[in-house]
Amino acid sequence: MQLAKRLDRISEPQTILMAKLGRELKAKGINVIDLSLGEPDFRTPQHICDAATKAMDEGYTKYPPVAGFPELRQAICTKLKRDNNLDYLPEEIMVSNGAKQVLANVIASIINPGDEAIIPTPYWVTYSSIVSLNQGANVFVAGAIENDFKITPQQLEAAITERSRLFIFSSPCNPTGTVYSKEELKALAEVFVKHPDIVIISDEIYEYINYIGKHESIAQFTELKDRVVVVNGFAKGFAMTGWRLGYMAAPVELVKACEKLQSSSTSGVNSIAQRAAITALLADLTPSMDMVAAFKQRKEYIIPAMAALPNVRISNPDGAFYAFPDISAYFGKSDGTTNVNNADDMAMYLLNTAHVIGVSGAAFGEPNCIRFSFAASMETLEEGVKRIKVALEALK
Ligand code: PMP
Repeated sequence: MQLAKRLDRISEPQTILMAKLGRELKAKGINVIDLSLGEPDFRTPQHICDAATKAMDEGYTKYPPVAGFPELRQAICTKLKRDNNLDYLPEEIMVSNGAKQVLANVIASIINPGDEAIIPTPYWVTYSSIVSLNQGANVFVAGAIENDFKITPQQLEAAITERSRLFIFSSPCNPTGTVYSKEELKALAEVFVKHPDIVIISDEIYEYINYIGKHESIAQFTELKDRVVVVNGFAKGFAMTGWRLGYMAAPVELVKACEKLQSSSTSGVNSIAQRAAITALLADLTPSMDMVAAFKQRKEYIIPAMAALPNVRISNPDGAFYAFPDISAYFGKSDGTTNVNNADDMAMYLLNTAHVIGVSGAAFGEPNCIRFSFAASMETLEEGVKRIKVALEALK
């Protein structure tokens, strides 16, 4: 069989690969501490599951509209006004199979071969893969650990060329937990105002998982709103990863383009999941907030615990559920059997010796770090840190 060459432009995400290796170890009966995947360790709140059952009983089992049920698009507008003070109309909303499909639709709708997408690093692996699939060029702008991995307006300005078409970022960020303040977003917005050909993809999927208070969206700056795409979903904030539900708020022209694409790929999202999503958005958010309180407690344990590991530097995440320590001080060392020369080696060393699964920062464009999800129980995290400490101390 001759497979299409476009496949050569991408590889399987490291996050998914590491989770697979973890499962293989578990299948051998090994006690594994799996901190690889970005998935809440909570069940979807019961009232949302009940809404799905009710939807089936009520006969919501037919093909749904491609862009989403009108009631769901309206509920998303209500949410955007309630939580973000953003004004959107239902026709500016589109629902897809996860935020991932939203991103795939938007990037494919904007990027022509050779167009540039500016991506601050560290970034979520999938952004660059989708750009590459569409024959775009990724232009990375490095956020430094000293600046909490945020980029400056000067760095942004310097990265812009006449081929720049997209800017893609997440706040709160996966993998760093970085949250841009209103002032910082405004400073970036001022740069974008000077460059009207750039569409800004603002991935806000970790919106609710925020430890410093109010979430800020770059869509609030009215001079930019007609080219901001707000991407959000249900996976993280409602513990609904398996339901595959994401959405965007964007100019109608882009919604129509994405609808055209999606109608030729997956059609509308599972009708039952969509009905349940209406309940998720409009019902009491207490279960989500309880989950966030648990993440906060874990963060308050794991960040100081990792900062106390010898020769490890770590930033304090303001959102999301990842610890992203810089372990580069160990590069060039060995435990007598395994040489650790980079973050990929470190991820494999920890997997094989400590049976702790993290993901190499190289996958996120930051080759000095390693990502550990703290969406796991306190006992799991404590055991993980203990094992990592022993493994690091063995490196001479
Ligand atoms: N954006 C970011 C920053 C993410 O971390 C993830 C999930 N890991 C997604 C988007 C995709 O979310 P979904 O499961 O809704 O496709």
